[in-house]
Amino acid sequence: MDAAVFRAWIVSAAAVVEANRDHLTQLDAAIGDADHGTNLARGFTAVLGALDAAGVSAAEPMVPGAILTLTGNTLISKVGGASGPLYGTAFRRAGKALGDAADVELPALAAALEAALAGVQQLGAAREGDKTMVDALAPATRAFGKAVAEGASATDALGALAEAAEAGAQATIPMQALKGRASYLGPRSVGHEDPGAVSTALILGALRDAARAGR
Ligand code: ADP
Ligand code: MG
Repeated sequence: MDAAVFRAWIVSAAAVVEANRDHLTQLDAAIGDADHGTNLARGFTAVLGALDAAGVSAAEPMVPGAILTLTGNTLISKVGGASGPLYGTAFRRAGKALGDAADVELPALAAALEAALAGVQQLGAAREGDKTMVDALAPATRAFGKAVAEGASATDALGALAEAAEAGAQATIPMQALKGRASYLGPRSVGHEDPGAVSTALILGALRDAARAGR
């Protein structure tokens, strides 16, 4: 997967976040402070601007790692709340893991996802079952790594990634939140899908779609 696929991923993620902005905000209204969709949509709009600016000024096209690092840096600076630094760290760690490679093979992408997950958990200290974005990112990372280790095609491995993320997000509904703002609600957080887990599934779904469109 080359830089064009990674750029297409980010563009597609920005579009899907924008299209789901109100939905994400409504989910956050139920168990948080009703800002997740607006936060993330603002952040990804800024990311698109940063990518355009960098693309115009760069002598050579950005490598995939640089695209993800710029995405992470921009999300950290533009998205408030808990999710900005968490998503920013995820993209930065993934970008760092990819390094200078111009073409990213599936095992390198699996390692980048693991680095992203480790970064999120280091920063936010959430474990699976705490009703956060980790409940989508962790099973997705696992499913992708397993598929890659078993020799799956990119299409199948990325399909497994996106499906596991969606299932992980849905599985947050019966959970009680133990981290983040939703944890203030205690047992009243049960019965709602976690907004950050849903946005994670949307963003990973965008990766699957971008890779599919690129082949
Ligand atoms: P805030 O909670 O500050 O308003 P957002 O509404 O943008 O930030 O994001 C809320 C989402 O952030 C939650 O749905 C959850 O998925 C995620 N989140 C919050 N705290 C943590 C944490 N410690 N670790 C991982 N994810 C977290
Ligand atoms: Mg919020």
